[in-house]
Amino acid sequence: MRIILFGAPGAGKGTQAKRLETALGIPQLSTGDMLRAHVRNGTDLGREVDAIMRAGHLVSDDIVIRMIAERIAAPDCTGGFLLDGFPRTVPQGEALDRMLAERGLVIDAVVGLDVPDEVVRDRIVQRRSCPKCGAVYHLSKLPPKVADTCDRCGTKGLEQRSDDTLEKVNARLEKFHKETAPLVQLYGPRGLVKTVDGMSPPDEVFESALRMLGVAKLAKRPALARPSARTASPRTPTARKPAPRTAVRAPAGKPARTVKARAAAAKKATKTKKATKAKKATKTKKATKTKKATKTKKATKAKKAAASRKPRSAAGKQKPARRR
Ligand SMILES: [Zn+2]
Repeated sequence: MRIILFGAPGAGKGTQAKRLETALGIPQLSTGDMLRAHVRNGTDLGREVDAIMRAGHLVSDDIVIRMIAERIAAPDCTGGFLLDGFPRTVPQGEALDRMLAERGLVIDAVVGLDVPDEVVRDRIVQRRSCPKCGAVYHLSKLPPKVADTCDRCGTKGLEQRSDDTLEKVNARLEKFHKETAPLVQLYGPRGLVKTVDGMSPPDEVFESALRMLGVAKLAKRPALARPSARTASPRTPTARKPAPRTAVRAPAGKPARTVKARAAAAKKATKTKKATKAKKATKTKKATKTKKATKTKKATKAKKAAASRKPRSAAGKQKPARRR
């Protein structure tokens, strides 16, 4: 599946890209990271880009497209990829389309993270990060336990990125609305745009993105792969019964349950199974006991009867014969 992740700065693209990458098994292609890696590794393209940037120019769409074309030829992209940070303009989108078409490929979905501007402003302006380990905080929503100190590594002096000022955020938002948002007009008519409410907690955003992509099925794998359901002793009678799979499968047509809910359902199913097993075992034990007791009682009675009869009969135990 070839996906474009789309959204204003601060909409949570980075967080969702990482999750989608893992869930879908496709690499995240962040054009910014890719360009930096080329420069760092001193590739031909990297040297070209470095020269352009040193001269104070912007890297052309053409170069970025060339870089993406080269990247998606790698074997890990055969199942698709997730583009993050590109295209940012309609011409870039059109150039991407042309490049893909030359290879017989198309974009399958555009996931848009929808977050109001005022939320973006708040998220970015109050964002602080640790200069040492990169941990990210939000001054009011996710503050460090000790003011200005990283929870994770204890570094003092959390930093605000130079781009994260109100002035710069406003400029980025304006650019997004003017240049990037019109991409919806390119992909919308093809029915590719899946808009996700980016205001929800990250877990929910992720799950609705998966649902929108129609790949919620993938998320239930961990629940079904739980070893407990399969490795239960095959000799016990209850193990022969298939696990209550319905408990972990989303009903057809209905939105799939959340990963958490599924895990909980699977756990419950296992628990119920265990409880049923224990109950049955107890029942069987009791039944066996009662049966045994009855048998023993009967046997004792019969023995006693036989014993009392013994002196009168030479045939002894051969009751039917004696009766005949
Ligand atoms: Zn830190």
